[in-house]
Amino acid sequence: MRNVAIVLAGGSGSRMKSKVKKQYIMLGNRPILWYSLRVFQEDPSIDEIVLVCGAGEEEQCRREFVEKYGFSKIRGITAGGKERYNSVYEGLKKAGACDYVLIHDGARPFIDHAMLERVFACLAVCPACVVGMPVKETIKVRNAEGFVEQTLPRERLWAVQTPQSFSYSLIRQAYDELLSSCRTDAELRQEECHQRMEIKKPETQPITDDAMVVETMMDIPVKLIEGSYDNIKITTPEDLAVAETLLVHYID
Ligand code: C5P
Repeated sequence: MRNVAIVLAGGSGSRMKSKVKKQYIMLGNRPILWYSLRVFQEDPSIDEIVLVCGAGEEEQCRREFVEKYGFSKIRGITAGGKERYNSVYEGLKKAGACDYVLIHDGARPFIDHAMLERVFACLAVCPACVVGMPVKETIKVRNAEGFVEQTLPRERLWAVQTPQSFSYSLIRQAYDELLSSCRTDAELRQEECHQRMEIKKPETQPITDDAMVVETMMDIPVKLIEGSYDNIKITTPEDLAVAETLLVHYID
């Protein structure tokens, strides 16, 4: 068995309005990215970590996370792409053929070993598994004029998180079908990706997670299992304040 965690830190983090990219902002006395890397480093089910960073940040990441913090499971560091799905594809290529991959947003520091145990228990019976939690709010669809178009049935709605986990061959095939031999220009590639998804599933939405790629390109059911309400994605400055409160449960 060879299982790889692909940790994504290739985004610009523009919604954080900070000079430092959000995954490198300090939380407590360590960068946000450190927290999820530590869980993958210490988890017995994970063999290797691939870190996807911004272009030109590879050496800085190697010095910081491999040398300074000693995350010895980091076997590959690679630059991401324009959209999250481009970064994931780079991560998948870097990981190479293996059994399972867990794709994780580096901006989510609060994963834990119990969650990874649930993930691997699920992967033993199902090749595509994502963590999430039931939504607490009532969710409505708003139309272009700002009025409510629809109220969705809350008991069936889940907010999806990461890690999103798959057999390598399944997710690689899904991403290959989506992205391989796409045009190189970033804008055209985005348009071409969307067209490829529309052929498979008309009126599809822009890609926001990995499960969507499998749902659309492979037509394989994706299992949704319990993540945790602490597993927030740090996106805006308010999230950082929440993370600082949650931090007490995650430091030694
Ligand atoms: O932008 P968003 O908050 O959805 O990003 C989720 C994760 O994906 C973050 O950890 C971010 O660094 C990563 N990402 C990436 N490459 C991109 C965009 C986002 O690695 N082009």
